[in-house]
Amino acid sequence: MSDIQRQPQQITVLGATGSIGSSTLDVISRHPERYQVFALSAHARINELKTLCLRHCPRFAVVANNADAQRLQSDLRAAGLATVVLVGAQGLCEVAAHPDVDAVMAAIVGAAGLESAMAAVTAGKKILLANKEALVMSGALFMRAVREHGAQLLPIDSEHNAIFQCLPCNYANGLAPVGVRRILLTASGGPFRNSSYAELEQVTPAQACAHPNWSMGQKISVDSATMMNKGLELIEACWLFAARPEQVEVVIHPQSVIHSLVDYIDGSVLAQLGNPDMRTPIAHAMAWPERIASGVAPLDLCALARMDFTAPDLERFACLRLAIDAAQAGGTAPIVLNAANEVAVAAFLQERIRFTQIPQLIEDVLSVDRGAPVDSLEAVVEVDRYARQCAQRWLSKESIQVGRRV
Ligand code: NAD
Ligand code: MG
Repeated sequence: MSDIQRQPQQITVLGATGSIGSSTLDVISRHPERYQVFALSAHARINELKTLCLRHCPRFAVVANNADAQRLQSDLRAAGLATVVLVGAQGLCEVAAHPDVDAVMAAIVGAAGLESAMAAVTAGKKILLANKEALVMSGALFMRAVREHGAQLLPIDSEHNAIFQCLPCNYANGLAPVGVRRILLTASGGPFRNSSYAELEQVTPAQACAHPNWSMGQKISVDSATMMNKGLELIEACWLFAARPEQVEVVIHPQSVIHSLVDYIDGSVLAQLGNPDMRTPIAHAMAWPERIASGVAPLDLCALARMDFTAPDLERFACLRLAIDAAQAGGTAPIVLNAANEVAVAAFLQERIRFTQIPQLIEDVLSVDRGAPVDSLEAVVEVDRYARQCAQRWLSKESIQVGRRV
């Protein structure tokens, strides 16, 4: 069927005001004949959401509370828009699973994105997964639901999207790809790649959020600085590509041009390259198996001139070590790791703890992990809640106003 005959696909963008949300809307705007915005969601920054609604005219918008919903609803009505404003987790799940939706961009940050991502999966949607925390927390359940409900899962995380692009073209979601020896997960090393431990102790939130190559939300920026992001991505890769943790090797590549590689048993190593801009994996996943323009500039290899590779330092970047251990332990460990990390990152951003205390908090909370089996989404949420409580207790004992510390 030609592009002209095709009906535009209806896209729900969860986390529309975020970094991934805005890159997604940029790609959508380049292809109005192909894509239409069905729903947009935001947690805060309601004025930004209003601007996005005025630009994209979605059927639904979702906000966190009734007061925001009423205000947005009356503003949109006054502007002549028929957009219906929904509220909270139920609203998110409704626009993720709505029968008229073709694809869902899951770009809410953290555990808050799990339920709506799962709603898209159980409704059998095409799901564009940026929210890596959902897979880290509930990988087995998530991948089983993808298979059972015939959902189509496409990775947005640049590394996983790169790996997906390097796998055989008949590769099926969640099955171990044939002939693959290793997955090589590249990492920029973040802003403190060459910093000493003493320097890491003094890191401020502003420094941690200033990533050298990527412009991202605050939480993932801090995760990149601690290298927890790479740890979460290792777990994500294990679930997406049915790999054992030992089959995923992290390689520091400061230029962020090779987005990851697949090493085959015949000695072939396939890589995906491109400028570091999330619109490439977003456009790839949205149009897959076709290709569409993303607005990303072509890669200039001569200007790049060189690419470097080193092994990660698991002592200075203890978060990566903790995540590898959690991947190997399985069970509840990844849920606890993720929850403790979310609490620790928020505390660091509020200057309640030092940068180097982030892995300390996580390690202490992991040591009280109850290891109970997780066979339902409710059980996952319960472990997450318990781990957050432990992390909060840790904070009330250990945290000090960083500025006032002697
Ligand atoms: P961001 O902080 O820029 O945006 C987060 C979005 O989630 C916002 O729209 C916010 O309103 C919404 N949100 C926050 N808390 C919420 C809650 N409790 N309930 C509902 N909505 C909530 O984050 P981001 O950088 O766009 O990252 C989003 C996700 O994509 C993360 O899981 C991140 O790990 C992943 N990711 C991001 C990048 C990137 O380049 N930014 C790359 C790969 C993966
Ligand atoms: Mg990534």
